[in-house]
Amino acid sequence: MHRIAPEDRCLTLVIAAYNEADALPALQPRIAAALDAAEREGLQARVLYIDDGSRDATWSILHGLAARDPRIGLLRLSRNFGKEAALTAGLDRIERGAALILDADGQDPPELLPRFIAKWCEGFDDVHGTRIERGGEGWLKRVTAHAFYRVMAALSKTPVPRDTGDFRLLSPRALAALRQLRERHRFMKGLFGWIGFNQVAIPYHRQARVAGRSKFGFWKLWNFALEGITSFSTAPLRAATYLGVATAFAAFVYAAWIVAKALLWGDPVAGWPSMMAVILFLGGTQLVALGLIGEYLGRLYEESKQRPLYLVDCWRPATGVSSPQHSNPSGASHAHGAATAGNEVG
Ligand code: UDP
Ligand code: MG
Repeated sequence: MHRIAPEDRCLTLVIAAYNEADALPALQPRIAAALDAAEREGLQARVLYIDDGSRDATWSILHGLAARDPRIGLLRLSRNFGKEAALTAGLDRIERGAALILDADGQDPPELLPRFIAKWCEGFDDVHGTRIERGGEGWLKRVTAHAFYRVMAALSKTPVPRDTGDFRLLSPRALAALRQLRERHRFMKGLFGWIGFNQVAIPYHRQARVAGRSKFGFWKLWNFALEGITSFSTAPLRAATYLGVATAFAAFVYAAWIVAKALLWGDPVAGWPSMMAVILFLGGTQLVALGLIGEYLGRLYEESKQRPLYLVDCWRPATGVSSPQHSNPSGASHAHGAATAGNEVG
């Protein structure tokens, strides 16, 4: 602990939850034990739950948990903004110390906390959990996830560690760096890689969810993969250029062949099938290239609107001091009066 400045000796666990009413009661005792462990290491430990606009009992359950443990802070977004925005909202509210990001479903074991803290004390800024096993996930998800990390590594200059999710500890300076990145399309794995600093992996066995169902179906994961590639690489645009050059070259060779054929053997009008094939092929490649440009243009459009990344409905920081709570599970109380917008660097 001696390497960490006294004013930084604070750790906040950041947990985004969307419809996790079944999982949270099972998770909180493990979180509380992890906080105790962090306190034994000489850290001030907190947990911040972000309710990402859940439609089930998540918010009232969180209120119940917070009433019993003053180390719990609560943040509720005005609607479902997605995990990336929810995590950003949570990280924006950490005033000092490091942050540890976990899933609300118990897939990222809080029991590993002391190992993360030990690496932080050794001087690492980004300590991330790398899965050596994915419990409760079908072979298709494993194969596609595996392929995704490899494609990403091939296409992007930003290093994205393989089989690594959002489960990680960020030192105060890594956190400050991350908070400067205010892009709307937030591919967090890429953002973590982009900031750099000293990174280290902690291998762990990823277990199955404690309860509930995964929010990421195949369509969502596919879009997530597109997000990652378009946010951190323009290689597909370049590929379109090369495809165009290759097609033009092939067309040139083919044209020369047609002219030569007409000169040598005359020109009985034929070639309807080959003409159709060429027209359809060119039409297809042009549409693909257009769609590709559209993907990037659409993202540019979203960025240019400069909307806040999220809106806050209710914010109740951890007090750290036991006191009778006036809980309001309806979420109607606005700690900051009007909703606050998340576009400023915290
Ligand atoms: N999550 C969220 N907002 C969403 C979707 C998910 O905050 O719109 C949270 C969810 O509650 C969980 C984490 O993100 O804590 C990971 O979600 P999930 O377990 O469904 O994903 P998987 O582990 O299957 O990739
Ligand atoms: Mg999960």
